[in-house]
Amino acid sequence: ATPTAVMVATGKGATQGVLIKGGNALEKAHKVNTIVFDKTGTLTVGKPEVVSDVLFSEIEMDEFCNIAIAVEANSEHPIAKAVVEHAKNKITNREPQTGTGSVVKDFTVHPGAGVGCTVGDKTVLVGNKKLMRLSNVAVDVKVENYFLENEKLARTCVLVAVDGKVAGGFAVTDPVKPEAAQVVGYLRSMNINSIMVTGDNWSTATAIAKEVGIEHVFAEIDPLGKADRIKDLQARGKIVAMVGDGINDSPALVAANVGMAIGAGTDVAIEAADIVLIKSNLEDVITAIDLSRKTISRIH
Ligand code: ADP
Ligand code: MG
Repeated sequence: ATPTAVMVATGKGATQGVLIKGGNALEKAHKVNTIVFDKTGTLTVGKPEVVSDVLFSEIEMDEFCNIAIAVEANSEHPIAKAVVEHAKNKITNREPQTGTGSVVKDFTVHPGAGVGCTVGDKTVLVGNKKLMRLSNVAVDVKVENYFLENEKLARTCVLVAVDGKVAGGFAVTDPVKPEAAQVVGYLRSMNINSIMVTGDNWSTATAIAKEVGIEHVFAEIDPLGKADRIKDLQARGKIVAMVGDGINDSPALVAANVGMAIGAGTDVAIEAADIVLIKSNLEDVITAIDLSRKTISRIH
């Protein structure tokens, strides 16, 4: 495209909240035939809410909630924010709990799995089954059933393990964006195949994919794995756009032919992306590709 055409297109994009970083990004976007969508915060609203809690051990609910808050307050994951909010409302006695303390040490992020730290004298893990498996925490039948019940309802379960034992958990819902299904359908009419990639578990991921009409799912994928899936698709001749909110998907945004960061996003995401969709609305994926197709076809 000529410099003028690029300027016109990027200018037009900017007025609609679609920030295209130069001619190269615009050029690449018109060839895209596959779009990989991150789930959390991209296809879903990204404001998960806890809908239930459960205890699996002798622990008091207040202590359980205090522990969960102490850990999750350190995490930027949207699930962590949901857990903190729910646990705060759940606590009946707001006095500090004995034994728990509030001193949090050695906070660690396990990408695609959860977080861990010590709270007072206790070792605590908060995350999914994979985190429990990696840390040799047993998941028994009761816990498995909690997962089964919730995952078929497209909910994600979060477990809290204290000193190597599952103490309890939370079930989280994160509704799909209202425009998601229509956008996937419209992309199909543009001959663009939509794929979902997520760190979340297979059953929750499949339930969400069904809601938005996506047939191809990669679940239980860590951030580097997301980039690998993109590279696999490219090796099979696909021209791939990755759409993500940046939480855990910056490597994939970089690996894609066109990286699209959605929403206010994180600084890393905005840096990693070729196109930034500032309104968080999935329709802008279409706007970006349309703009690119129109600009490029006008030239050739
Ligand atoms: P997604 O690809 O859906 O954005 P992530 O890779 O960010 O998912 O996270 C994958 C999974 O890891 C989550 O679905 C959740 O089960 C678990 N997880 C990650 N961080 C946390 C956290 N801070 N608290 C609880 N669970 C977490
Ligand atoms: Mg995400």
